[in-house]
Amino acid sequence: MRNKFCVNCGNENDLVNELCLDCFKKENTLLKHFKEVKIIICNECKSYLHKNSWRKHFSEDIERNIKKITSEIFRTKIVVNPGVKLDEVNINVDVPKKLKVGNGSLVNVNLDVEVAGSIDEVELTENYVVPTQVRFNACNNCKKLGGNYFEAKLQLRPKNDKILKFVQDYCVNRKKLFISKVEEAKYGYDLYLSDQRETRNLGNMMRRKFGGEVKESKKLFGVKEGKTIYRATVLFRLEE
Ligand SMILES: [Zn+2]
Ligand SMILES: [Zn+2]
Repeated sequence: MRNKFCVNCGNENDLVNELCLDCFKKENTLLKHFKEVKIIICNECKSYLHKNSWRKHFSEDIERNIKKITSEIFRTKIVVNPGVKLDEVNINVDVPKKLKVGNGSLVNVNLDVEVAGSIDEVELTENYVVPTQVRFNACNNCKKLGGNYFEAKLQLRPKNDKILKFVQDYCVNRKKLFISKVEEAKYGYDLYLSDQRETRNLGNMMRRKFGGEVKESKKLFGVKEGKTIYRATVLFRLEE
C-alpha cells in the first residue's frame, strides 16, 4: 500500500488498487452470484437429489434434514469473484416449524448466508438472505415400491431393545443403510432396511459381538430390465 490519493473519493490514505479502503470495500464483493438451487427431497425415504442421483438423508428429523441438505447443496452453488480467497461460509436455514410433507409438497425456506474472505489481502464479510424452495417428491426407488423402500428385512429375535437400539445407532453412521420401517412382531422386531449386502454384514457383525446365529433366506421380488430382483431376510437370533 502506498500513501496517495484515492481515485474515487480523493481522500489521502493507504490505497489498494488506487482506492482507499472504504471505496475498495464498496466496489468489491466476495461473491459474484449464486447458481440456481434446486432442492428435491423424497417424502418417503428422505433421501435427496443431487447431481442427478439420490443420496442418503442426513437425519430422520425432517427439519434437521432440510437444513443440512439445503446448506450442503447451496454451498456448492456459490460463485466468487476472481482473486477472492474465501475463508468461511456460514449458512443458517430457516425452516417452518411442525412441518408435514407429502408427495408434491413445497416448502419455502430462507437461507442466511454469511461469508468471510479477502481480496488483495483486504478482509471482507458479507451477508445475504436467499429465499429457496424445497420440493418433496418420491425418489425412483420409493416410486417403484409405492413407499416403504427396502431391500432386506432384518428380523431380531427375541425381542430385545438393546439390540434394536444397536441396529438403529449403527444405521445412522452408514451411508447406504437406513431403516425404512420397524415392526414390532410377537417374538421380536422386523426391520426393513435399504441395502442387502450391508444388512448381511450387520447380521454377521452382531453374531460376533453378541453371540447367537444368523440365517438368511431370499425371496423373489420381481423382474426388472430382465434381471430378477430378490429381497433378503436376515434372521438374527440371540443366544439365550
Ligand atoms: Zn476512496
Ligand atoms: Zn425415497
